[in-house]
Amino acid sequence: MASDCLFCKIALGTISANVVYQDDQVLAFRDINPVAPTHILIIPRRHIAGLAEAGTGEQALLGALLLAASQLARDEGLVEGGYRVVTNTGPNAGQSVPHLHFHLLGGRSMHWPPG
Ligand code: AMP
Repeated sequence: MASDCLFCKIALGTISANVVYQDDQVLAFRDINPVAPTHILIIPRRHIAGLAEAGTGEQALLGALLLAASQLARDEGLVEGGYRVVTNTGPNAGQSVPHLHFHLLGGRSMHWPPG
């Protein structure tokens, strides 16, 4: 836990969020400022600042995060239409919360490459 980390506080329950999935390692909740009809954030409970800070010791955890995204996409009915899973890493990517998170986006068509 990083004491000043917003997503650590959500993982601990000291800041509320609209949680849609949780287990001992992973938490998923709806983004407070959705940019698609489905916009869910999937995070590790344990503080990792971003993908750049994840190491080989996080291999299983990274797999768990992506499998949670895949299951949530099924739960949200996104498989047929398609969906996007993205993690912003560092300033050029626009990462605003320094706690690793994957965005699950779906329910509308999206452009590529992203802006
Ligand atoms: P990023 O810019 O990739 O770091 O993504 C951070 C995301 O966290 C943004 O999409 C924000 O809308 C979202 N966010 C910030 N605060 C909260 C919150 N309290 N609950 C849910 N989502 C949040």
